[in-house]
Amino acid sequence: MHADWQHLVTATQLVVALDLDGTLIPFAPTPQEARIDGDSAALIAGLAALPGVTVGVISGRPRDLVDDLPPRFPTVKFAAEHGVWRCSNGVWEASLAPIPQLDEVQASLAVLAAKHPGAIVERKSCSVCLHWRSVAPDHHDVVSAAAEVIVDEWLETHQLLERLPVMEALEVRHRGAHKGGALNWLRQHGPPGAPLLAIGDDITDEDMFVSLRDHDVGILVAQHPRRTQASLRLPSISSVHKFLRWLIDARQHQPTIGPEELVVARGPKLPAEARLLVASNRLPAVPSTDRKREVGGLVSALIPALTEQSGIWLGWSGAERDPGLRLRVEDGEAFTRAQFDYPLTWRERFYAGFCNQSLWPLLHAFLGRVRYVDDEWACYVDANRAYAQLVMQAAGTGSDVWVQDFHLMLVGRELRRGGHRGRTGFYLHVPFPPLDVFETMPWASEVMAALLEFDLIGLQGARWFDNFMQTARGLLGTDAEARAKDRVRVIPVGIDPDRFADEALGTMNDELGSFEAMLGGRKLLLGVDRLDYSKGIPERLEAFARLLERYPEWRGQVSFVQVSVPTRSEVLEYAELRGKVESLVGRINGAFGEADWTPVRYLYRSYDQSTLARLYRIAAVGLVTPLRDGMNLVAKEYVAAQDPDDPGVLVLSKFCGAAERMTLALLTNPYHVDGVAADLDTALRMPREERVARHGALRAVVWKETASAWSKDFLEAMRA
Ligand code: UDP
Repeated sequence: MHADWQHLVTATQLVVALDLDGTLIPFAPTPQEARIDGDSAALIAGLAALPGVTVGVISGRPRDLVDDLPPRFPTVKFAAEHGVWRCSNGVWEASLAPIPQLDEVQASLAVLAAKHPGAIVERKSCSVCLHWRSVAPDHHDVVSAAAEVIVDEWLETHQLLERLPVMEALEVRHRGAHKGGALNWLRQHGPPGAPLLAIGDDITDEDMFVSLRDHDVGILVAQHPRRTQASLRLPSISSVHKFLRWLIDARQHQPTIGPEELVVARGPKLPAEARLLVASNRLPAVPSTDRKREVGGLVSALIPALTEQSGIWLGWSGAERDPGLRLRVEDGEAFTRAQFDYPLTWRERFYAGFCNQSLWPLLHAFLGRVRYVDDEWACYVDANRAYAQLVMQAAGTGSDVWVQDFHLMLVGRELRRGGHRGRTGFYLHVPFPPLDVFETMPWASEVMAALLEFDLIGLQGARWFDNFMQTARGLLGTDAEARAKDRVRVIPVGIDPDRFADEALGTMNDELGSFEAMLGGRKLLLGVDRLDYSKGIPERLEAFARLLERYPEWRGQVSFVQVSVPTRSEVLEYAELRGKVESLVGRINGAFGEADWTPVRYLYRSYDQSTLARLYRIAAVGLVTPLRDGMNLVAKEYVAAQDPDDPGVLVLSKFCGAAERMTLALLTNPYHVDGVAADLDTALRMPREERVARHGALRAVVWKETASAWSKDFLEAMRA
């Protein structure tokens, strides 16, 4: 018998957590038809009757499909809906309040299901699940891709919910509704310190496995090995039955078979050393090459390098858990994904706290918004150390590591301290501020020293480079400045311009059709940003109002569409910004609107990039006026999407990285409302010849400094 699980027999106390469908009983076409057979019932009852053993059945089924079980097994605990519902001593309790907003996504999934015979939508109190097990197999891909698009778009504005892939199904659920929570609840009902045995087959069962502790045992039920957090594997439901029968008999000192007859294989191990690991705060959504799914610029820029070098991308899963930080490694199509859950304090202290309320405003030089809290800094240090450990756990100590952005500035130092031998690189996607701003951070010197432990530091622009040198010298002296000069390079981020150019030519869908109808031949001014104070959205609205005031001839002739993508809504200032922008829009429309003309259309939502590309193309003016921005990709996307023979005009803030190279945009000062209004007037009047000439120069920059050139240049410099 393997030492890893011998104690399941000998421990005086034991807690057993069992999944139902696919583990104890086979799947039926619908969950309603799957019944607990006599054998399974005997095993549950047999385990529960053992002295010292606490048994829990942890199911993903809705509560009404397990309601009949507590009376049949009175001493067994039950969890339904991945633990939203919990039953002990015959009393059901909900651990989360119902989520009425799920009605919307349920309705959209129902429309999709109606088009595909066999697809069913299952609604639970904190989740909605679309099943396609009974859909014709050659339609599975179509259904799953369409479902992902519906769900991802909806999730942009519903941050408490998450999407999770289930076997032949897709589920949207509350982030707190996972089997790991149910497992902890069961543990609390068992004797303190008792080891736990968890058995399950589904991806949702990984939430149980990831919550297991040192002396616990996780068993994955799967015919073939797959990436799992479980340490053991049983190949089938019948082998689970055999195993449980053996456990019952052995704990009663009368085993009828030897443990060697049980087919128990070790779960697969983590990969051998990878050559390249990319670490970012958040792991990007799963990219898929065969489905036409949206992939962000950063991801598509890195895919070639990651694929070539059997690379790993490591980041936060988006979920939180106690104690968190268990690495889950999955092979993806393009690269291996290594993810982990935050411990419970991190979202507030590390992410919303130090990252978003100290570093973000500091690096963008918004000193009025900066605050420093010791506990949050301590959590930032802990988090960076933990990331470094996870990096070494996932990829070994010899791999090249490329760390993305300001969340992880101390990872280079922590890797060195941990004995990492491979190369380390860091890319800062945001600005770097001048010394007198940076030094307001109580830990400024420590952060600068830690940054200089990376082999290479990449920045978006020369202005940020100058600030960095001045800060290194000011804080740490001329030696540090010399070290910085050795390691810091300006390597601007770009986009995949061909893709935007192609997609801009795509056909109009209903949504875009209604845009054109709304415009009614008027000129479109377009703004597209995350709703962040660095983007200068209120200032831009004021400038538009000033245009209408000062140049009344444009009234009724132009429409300003502002797309604002929800972001960081858990931070108070962002909620305030939203209110401010909405009231400004109302004020402008109230002051200037007419029965047949609404001056500003404000859209608090996100669009996929192919829709954006077509919107960019019909916009006469692209308004990109951040108060400060590391690069600004929307500026590049707008240029890529124009018709070269009749392009629109890019009105671009002087204070973003993009302005450094895109000097033939109409450069403007976003703080100067009258100036922006005058520049808008110039843009709207600009003759075609001048537009074509300026656009030609901008195109050359956008096609030279692309996303793929960026990752290639960075990796080459890091390895030089
Ligand atoms: N974006 C998007 N959908 C939207 C609005 C924006 O996919 O509805 C994308 C946009 O195409 C761009 C990115 O979000 O690639 C924004 O990048 P940028 O550098 O302009 O600003 P950031 O949000 O990174 O500060």
